[in-house]
Amino acid sequence: MSSILSESSSICPFCGSDAPGVYITRRDGVYFILECPVHGMHEEKVENDVDSFLYRYEMDYSPGPKHLVFPLTYRCNMKCPYCYSLSNTPEGNRVADRNRSQIESILSGRTENIMFSGGEPTIRQDLPDLILHAKTLLPDRRVSIATNGLKLANPSYAETLKESGLDFILFSLHDSGYEPERIPGRKMQALENMGRYNIPVWLSRTIDNVRQIDSLLTILERFRKVIFHVTLRSAKPYGYFNPGKEIFISDILKYLGKERDHEKGRSPFNCYIRIAGRRVKVSSWVCDTGRLDPIDDDILIVDDRILPLHRGLRLDPILISQHTKKQTA
Ligand code: SF4
Repeated sequence: MSSILSESSSICPFCGSDAPGVYITRRDGVYFILECPVHGMHEEKVENDVDSFLYRYEMDYSPGPKHLVFPLTYRCNMKCPYCYSLSNTPEGNRVADRNRSQIESILSGRTENIMFSGGEPTIRQDLPDLILHAKTLLPDRRVSIATNGLKLANPSYAETLKESGLDFILFSLHDSGYEPERIPGRKMQALENMGRYNIPVWLSRTIDNVRQIDSLLTILERFRKVIFHVTLRSAKPYGYFNPGKEIFISDILKYLGKERDHEKGRSPFNCYIRIAGRRVKVSSWVCDTGRLDPIDDDILIVDDRILPLHRGLRLDPILISQHTKKQTA
C-alpha cells in the first residue's frame, strides 16, 4: 500500500533529462520516484521513518540563496570515498581551472556571498589573489572557501589567506574511521591554525556510520571558540562509493535522542539541532530539482550557468557521465 505525498521534479540518472518526480510513502519509508520519457521509472529511498519525514515535512520553502558556490578547479590533493565532485578522475582532469577574467565576469554585480570551492581551491597557487580580488569586487560580501583543510595545517599559509581577506572556511572534517590515517592529524593542526589566526570554521562532516558522530562531539568541545556552525550529513551513493546501508536523518536524530527536539529547516532534508552549544544542520541528499536545494540554500556555477546547488551538481557533465556509467555497468 502506497500513497502520494507531493509532486516535484528531478533529472534522469541515465541521461540527465528533466523528469517529473513524486514523493510516495510506503510501509517501509518514503521514496522519490521519477519518470524519464526515454528511460522509464527510477526510484530512490529518501527516508526509512515515515513519521519522522512527515514531521519534518511541515516546512517553509521560501527561497533566498546565501552563497554563490564557485568551483575554481576540479583538481584535489585528496581522494575521499564519497566525493561528489569526482576530483582526480580523467573527466575531471580534462576541465580547465577558471581563469581570473572568467571569475571577474561571473562575480561582477553578484549580491550573494562567495564561496570558492573545488575540487580543492587551495590547490590554486593564486588563491590568495583571487580572495583579495573577490573582496575588492564585492566589499560588502563574505568570501569563504570550501576546503579539506590540508594546506591550512601550514600556519604561514593560513596567515596568508587571512591577510587576503578570507572571512571563514567550510571545512570538511570527517571521522578517523572515514579518512586515511595521516589525514586527521593535519586537520587538527589546521583547526589550531584557524583559532590562531581568527578564521571562523563552518565544519562539514559526512558520516557512513552513526557512531562517527561521537568524535564530532569531542571536536566541538575542543574547538568551541573557532567552530561557529556545523553541517552533518549522511553519505549518499553519488561519489566513488556506494555506502551500502544508508543512514537517514531519522537515524541521526535517534542516535542523538533528538527525534522531536529540532527546528525545521527549509526542507525535510535538513533540520537544525543543538550539539555542544552549536547549531548543527542535519542533512541528507536527494536529487529533487523542483525545490530550492534540499541541503543548502546555495547556488552553483556549472559552465557559465548559475543553478541551485543540487541541480547544478547533478547537471554537471562529469557527474552525469560517471553516474550514467554506474547505472549501466
Ligand atoms: S570530497 Fe573534497 S577533499 Fe575529498 S576528494 Fe572530493 S573535492 Fe577533494
